[in-house]
Amino acid sequence: MMRKSENYRLADLGEFGFIDQIARRVRPTPDIKIGIGDDAAAFRIPPGCLALTTTDMLLEGVHFDLSLCDGYSLGRKSLAVNFSDIAAMGAKPHSCLLSLAFPETTPMTLLSDFVAGLLEIGGEYGVALIGGDTCASRGGVVIGITLYGVQEPDKIVQRCTARPGDLIFVTGSPGDSALGLKLLRDGIREGRAVARHLDPTPRVREGLALAESELASAMIDISDGLLSDLGHITKKSSVGARVYLEKIPLSQEYRAYFGLEEKEGYALALGGGEDYELLFTAPAHRRSEVEALFGQFDTAVSEIGEITTVPGIRLLSSSGEVVHGFAAGFDHFSVRREHTS
Ligand code: ADP
Ligand code: MG
Repeated sequence: MMRKSENYRLADLGEFGFIDQIARRVRPTPDIKIGIGDDAAAFRIPPGCLALTTTDMLLEGVHFDLSLCDGYSLGRKSLAVNFSDIAAMGAKPHSCLLSLAFPETTPMTLLSDFVAGLLEIGGEYGVALIGGDTCASRGGVVIGITLYGVQEPDKIVQRCTARPGDLIFVTGSPGDSALGLKLLRDGIREGRAVARHLDPTPRVREGLALAESELASAMIDISDGLLSDLGHITKKSSVGARVYLEKIPLSQEYRAYFGLEEKEGYALALGGGEDYELLFTAPAHRRSEVEALFGQFDTAVSEIGEITTVPGIRLLSSSGEVVHGFAAGFDHFSVRREHTS
């Protein structure tokens, strides 16, 4: 097995020994004709589908902090953030590539846990690891993952297709991941918000169901913050949006921590990143279909506003007044962009 002793390091195993150990743990899926071990991988995609592809880099010190996370959750999260992008296109994750640069002093336990976490979440969504690249790093850990997805061309959901009058929906409770990071930095290692930060659940089944039912007119995943990501939909679609502050779904943990007296309490829910929830629009006459669709999942869905012809995002209070300080400045939102867990 990979795990030997705490002192066993990547340098003791070597590049090819390491790749061999990954390869032995991979479970192939029927579409993969050539997997790890040749100069390139080869795979089939279902007839009538397009292949989609997305890639994300995670850098130690920028996106994660090894003193605040464990190898296993890091492996899960590295693939989860890519699943989230494929989910936001309404596509089905298919296969992935893993590029790694680790210092040669890296303990094998960390690497073994990382690979275990990554392969586990891959298995949960039927995705095989089909190749990658491994290098020694003179700096910190660098993780690069490329994920392929598949979907019929007409069912792929883009950012640029929201229409005035469409309703805006969000899954889950945004802000929990940013709260979790705040708690981690304060030395708290437990609780739902911390778990949401370290091991986010990509909304793969939900994104796929929205695409299959052709309910979503536009969709994005929340990686940079709700308002910022909604801004991508409105800009690409050449529309605007009205968002109701009191409709933003906040978790119990979030309410307990911030209270809701002050509008500042909403800062992380509107501007915090890394929630990996889906933000999508749907025609107003299909509202009940959206609610019925989410009845089959354990995931909450909330209507938070509507698409308008007037450009920009207007945030409204319960009395209908425009709330300033969020929407007006969402491009240069004052909550600093931070990822490091
Ligand atoms: P080459 O030198 O031809 O690029 P490599 O020695 O880099 O080949 O890789 C050999 C095989 O191992 C390839 O199939 C490659 O995709 C796979 N591989 C290398 N690193 C990884 C990794 N970190 N995860 C999964 N597969 C890997
Ligand atoms: Mg080669």
